[in-house]
Amino acid sequence: MPVKHKLLVAGAGMAGLAAAARARELGADVVVHEKGDRPGGSMLLSSGVVWRYREWEDFRSGCPGGDLALQRVVWEGLDEALAWLESLGAQVVSRETGNPLTKGVRFDPRGLTEVLARHAGALRVGEPLTALPEDVPTILATGGFQGDRELVRRYVTPEADALVLRANPWSTGDGLRLALARGAALSVGLDEFYGRNLAAAPRITAEDFVPLAQVYARHVTVKNVRGERHEARHWADLDVVQWTARQPGARAWYVVTDEALSEPVRDGTVGEAIETARRAGAPVERRDGATRVEVVAGITSTLGGIRVDEHARAADELWAAGADVGGISTGGWSSALAAALVLGRIAAEDAVSLGG
Ligand SMILES: Cc1cc2nc3c(=O)[nH]c(=O)nc-3n(C[C@H](O)[C@H](O)[C@H](O)COP(=O)(O)OP(=O)(O)OC[C@H]3O[C@@H](n4cnc5c(N)ncnc54)[C@H](O)[C@@H]3O)c2cc1C
Repeated sequence: MPVKHKLLVAGAGMAGLAAAARARELGADVVVHEKGDRPGGSMLLSSGVVWRYREWEDFRSGCPGGDLALQRVVWEGLDEALAWLESLGAQVVSRETGNPLTKGVRFDPRGLTEVLARHAGALRVGEPLTALPEDVPTILATGGFQGDRELVRRYVTPEADALVLRANPWSTGDGLRLALARGAALSVGLDEFYGRNLAAAPRITAEDFVPLAQVYARHVTVKNVRGERHEARHWADLDVVQWTARQPGARAWYVVTDEALSEPVRDGTVGEAIETARRAGAPVERRDGATRVEVVAGITSTLGGIRVDEHARAADELWAAGADVGGISTGGWSSALAAALVLGRIAAEDAVSLGG
């Protein structure tokens, strides 16, 4: 009998589960540590759309600060990785992303988590990885550092305490700390994050993360509490949420003309999104012939983190994948689930091949 290679994975979200499932497929003996009380990470809370830009040039111009080699492997590897997910039994909900610039697949996050967890082998739920073992190759996939107020304050915004955490509560930079202690380097873009401005309702739970998102800043005037304006630039409001996160209270007001209320947004109109905000108890006012909605920045996923090469290597015997890896979407936004899936698989393949 050939000796099976041991592999440790930290984190049972998209990146960790994909890595574990791929490594087992290649014959490794894998143990996955999961800090939370369930597998799935933020993937389980997500909309489940795993996508890439249709054109390579759009990816480059959409995320101009990102590492070219990493962007290339994610962009080139996604179609095969999506076919692999389907071959494992993941059910596709839709083959449309709703954005003509991008292509990809929408999965049901619960079904996807179950399928991946079934293939991932031994899952140690409720047992975080707290130290790196000396002699076992390890893949870090702990989901970024948005859950740690101190790290967010240091790298992203002085208003860290006012941000809404729009993600799982357990991704608090453990992967980053472990990797740096092993000699890994930081990526570029530590101050960037992916998130959404949410209607500033008095109580926001995980079920509200998608419905309370107010993603229509290009149709409105965006102001902070002092009346200072921001002109929306990014198609997915990424610049707007990052700007809002740095304003007093991490809040802003959207001033919406009556004409803008009928503008289409995903799954409805601007007016319908505002109605959802009002029903949730968010401040919605009429003033000077316009509607004003208060929003608060929600942080979903840090975009800076551990620097890896195109084999997902971070240091000796150490790999990283998913939101733990920084420098892919820098300057813009690309699918975090796609990067997690592709780099998780690459990390597994590299770790198993070196073990052989
Ligand atoms: C509401 C919402 C909608 C979204 N929609 C989309 C979308 O449609 N498309 C898209 O591409 N992205 C989307 N995202 C973002 C995407 O879900 C995440 O960026 C993605 O899940 C990151 O994958 P990951 O594997 O790096 O982290 P996660 O999926 O968050 O998994 C990380 C895991 O690591 C665990 N962990 C943390 N520390 C430790 C430790 N020390 N030891 C062991 N385990 C640890 C955590 O508990 C967690 O389970 C969305 C996110 C949210 C919240």
